[in-house]
Amino acid sequence: MTRELTIGSFSLGGTNPVRVESMLKIPLAERENCLDQCLSLNREGCELIRAAFPSAESAENLKWLNERSPVPLMADIHFDAGLALAALAAGVPSIRINPGNMPRAGVQDIVRSAREKKAVIRIGANGGSLSSRQITEARGVRSDALASAVEDQLHLLLDEGFEDIILSAKSTSVPETVRANSLLALKYPDFPFHIGITESGSGRDGLVKSAGGLAILLAQGIGNTLRISLTDTPEEEVRTGFSLLRALEMRAKGVNLISCPTCGRKRIDVRKLVDLLAPCIHSLPDGLSVAVMGCEVNGPREAMDADFGIAGSPGGAVIFSRGKVLKELPLEDLPAALLELASDRPTEDGPENCRKKNEKGE
Ligand code: SF4
Repeated sequence: MTRELTIGSFSLGGTNPVRVESMLKIPLAERENCLDQCLSLNREGCELIRAAFPSAESAENLKWLNERSPVPLMADIHFDAGLALAALAAGVPSIRINPGNMPRAGVQDIVRSAREKKAVIRIGANGGSLSSRQITEARGVRSDALASAVEDQLHLLLDEGFEDIILSAKSTSVPETVRANSLLALKYPDFPFHIGITESGSGRDGLVKSAGGLAILLAQGIGNTLRISLTDTPEEEVRTGFSLLRALEMRAKGVNLISCPTCGRKRIDVRKLVDLLAPCIHSLPDGLSVAVMGCEVNGPREAMDADFGIAGSPGGAVIFSRGKVLKELPLEDLPAALLELASDRPTEDGPENCRKKNEKGE
């Protein structure tokens, strides 16, 4: 149980669920596009958005965006204490800095301003920016060097009496990230952690790397806010974050899709059916589990826990709920039947929206 911190409209740490965040992939100079991305990320459920703040010229745009974004912002600053002060003056509720790269007086000014504005400071280190001195001091063990680098940053703020801090130790290496975070969490269990595998790549490799590393940390109870750093859109990062938390049964946002790998018993093309039903499935209420199984012989039993399921049968498909077969029907009637069943469960953007998407062929 870490301390609880509040950033704008949400809290993290303490008893709060693990938060999902992302980063704007557009420069602040394009403030209208940045706002569009914030709105889009808000629709995906993103809870914190980091924005690179590399120059004072963008201070006015940062302020403008902060006043309009429905999701709290974290200004990302390197080296320049003056920029951190400008970001806090712009009203952002959180900043990410490396105090070790700033003069002592600058850190003191930042702490004073953050305290006054009740802002949260995320600090940390990245495996890619470790110095040869830090690696030598850790006897060549990079994960230990990464943990010490974070510790050095932490003490710079603690020495100033500031404790509203999120810790972060990231690397492109899964073992290095896991070990560094584990060492830090043992030593500093009171501080919330931001976790991520940095620059994890794209496509399948990026997903596996991020999910593999973060699952190990989350299983140890480490991580209060996460980012899946992908070479992809920020929306995809957020969707992947929630997907991971859903798989670990830590959050129920979205629908839990169960589908079988198929075997020689299959009676339908499960992959095609999943694609056909995807628009409906994604508009069903959060927390629902839907199964798409290849055959009626084993499907309903294998997906016993699903709220609703579809399994291939001689006549097309059977629809089942919690392992019990409800009816058999032709494949083309499946989306409508699934919607009908789900319409018993009220949702703002549920069956009606799904029906409209089907009518439009989306
Ligand atoms: S549900 Fe049927 S088709 Fe799918 S894996 Fe099980 S036995 Fe094979």
